[in-house]
Amino acid sequence: MSNVIQLLPDHVANQIAAGEVVQRPASVIKELLENSIDAKASRIQVVIKDAGKTLIQVVDDGEGMSLTDARMSFERHATSKIKLADDLFSLKTKGFRGEALASIAAIAHVELKTKTEEDEVGTCIKVEGSKVVSQDPCVTPKGTSICVKNLFYNIPARRNFLKSDNVETRHIIDEFQRVALAHPDISFSLTHNGNELFQLPPTNFRQRITNILGGKTNEKLVPVEEDTEIVKISGFVGKPEFAKKSRGEQFFFVNNRFIKSPYLNHAVVASFEGLLKEKSYPTYFLYLEVDPKSIDINIHPTKTEIKFDDEHALYAILKSAIKHSLGQFNVAPMLDFERDSELDTPYDYKNKEVNTPHIEVDRDFNPFQNEGNRGTSFSGGGNFRREKPAEWESLYSGMQQETETDVDIKQIEFESEEVTGDLFGTREEAPEKSTFQLHKKYIVSTLKSGILVIDQHRAHTRVLYEELLKNITVSAAVSQQLLFPLKLQFNYNEVEMLKELMESLEQTGFIFSEINKEELEITGIPTLISESEVQILLEQLLADFEKDVPHDGFSQTDLLAKSLAKSMAVRSGTLLNSAEQQHIVNRLFACKEPALNPFNKTVFITLSVDELDKKFA
Ligand code: ADP
Ligand code: MG
Repeated sequence: MSNVIQLLPDHVANQIAAGEVVQRPASVIKELLENSIDAKASRIQVVIKDAGKTLIQVVDDGEGMSLTDARMSFERHATSKIKLADDLFSLKTKGFRGEALASIAAIAHVELKTKTEEDEVGTCIKVEGSKVVSQDPCVTPKGTSICVKNLFYNIPARRNFLKSDNVETRHIIDEFQRVALAHPDISFSLTHNGNELFQLPPTNFRQRITNILGGKTNEKLVPVEEDTEIVKISGFVGKPEFAKKSRGEQFFFVNNRFIKSPYLNHAVVASFEGLLKEKSYPTYFLYLEVDPKSIDINIHPTKTEIKFDDEHALYAILKSAIKHSLGQFNVAPMLDFERDSELDTPYDYKNKEVNTPHIEVDRDFNPFQNEGNRGTSFSGGGNFRREKPAEWESLYSGMQQETETDVDIKQIEFESEEVTGDLFGTREEAPEKSTFQLHKKYIVSTLKSGILVIDQHRAHTRVLYEELLKNITVSAAVSQQLLFPLKLQFNYNEVEMLKELMESLEQTGFIFSEINKEELEITGIPTLISESEVQILLEQLLADFEKDVPHDGFSQTDLLAKSLAKSMAVRSGTLLNSAEQQHIVNRLFACKEPALNPFNKTVFITLSVDELDKKFA
């Protein structure tokens, strides 16, 4: 057989490399931003059209390139950033592979304009699918401007694989924010289809975080500082009561590079031990400076994971630094005096709510409570404040006891009914009484031919799910008007997602009176939830949708109804009085599909007399 191995032509090799480097428009943004930062830019402007699918332009005022460098920059493995293998161990730059521009130019139409300080004229180079189509001198300010048009124009499969504009824009914003958070001293802007999304002046870390994530962020931050031989830590963690339902606001930067580290994340979570509600995630912006020699950033192609020499020490230092900060914050409540009184409103309402148990369905109603958590948190605990536990806990425990006695009596009645006698007769006459609650988790009811055991949370989820679906698709639900509008803060991406869901949310009873970049004003909410639960419910919703709001009506409605139903449904561990039990049972069996919850889990089981007989055989 003749020899068959040959070297791939450059443009093919570049296209293959591009597959790794450029997954989506956001990857281009990341690479170009990093190049601008490596070129010591002090001002970087990003302009995109159609979520970067049509145009991505990054303009910087950095060092620029000479004519020869400009030409070279599109070659694969062409870099000014390292010369020797040893340089890999002392990297100070973001780039070093020399692959980005070559990869991008292989799969798009690229126009580069660049000029150095010394040069009189700049250079303009156009490359399409790895081919240089023109190269001319041009008038351009010092710095570099790169336009990337028609991304993936020559790989239709990749182009078709891209998600909706909204999703791709969110990815771009994520990358943009990561870079901007790591470099507060550089000014950044981002414009999409002519709308300015971010305009970030040079500032310090704290202010940059606030500029990006919204005005109220500042007061939620607790500073963290630690300087050791191994690592210098600075940055902020969010106060525990502002912990989010999703992992959206968690940032590690190592030597000014955004990284993901499940291990270090664990250290942060561990330092919050006992301060967080279940299933909530602390916010953090942590900047770690380590000796470049002690890390290997080479292990992951898109470079968000790195390997540390001494991970264990880092873990311990990080954990104790955060604990220390949180401790200081807890024992020094005066730090909290700056709190905006507005933020306390939902909390006050929550107290009120406990005092007025007039909700239609369940008065202990608490969609967010998890089993085993009772007593340390309560309804809408998203805003609960650790520093004043005594006040509300005592309030609540009074409530709880009251209900408990209440129900115990009923249960005794029920049992005595059962033992004393003409059970069947009684049941027939007064079927309303024939339920009781087991373990604060199951509703047990008798049937003609046996017994019925219903999972209360699943049943209620099914009921609410069908009701919400109906509200969203057929007739809007009534809403309860709020006395004072509720103002909620979300970050840019979250607000954008909520906007996409707005119409459906309004059908469920929400009334939004104002929406701007980072704040929602709500004047009406569904009747089944309380004001204090709104923020956490919406956060859970965002977490459930992750980044993707489906655009076909059905999946969107379905997902929305599932998420809200899950959040709003009464939890296991919640005591229900018999009216509440009855209510759930009756409504469950009026459902189209009572046997399964919306997540296809069994809602109830029956145990027939025959089966019982067998057990007693
Ligand atoms: P890398 O960043 O890994 O070196 P790239 O392909 O991203 O590889 O860039 C190749 C080279 O082009 C860089 O090493 C740098 O010298 C030059 N370059 C790229 N972008 C810029 C820019 N915005 N300003 C100045 N020089 C740049
Ligand atoms: Mg680069």
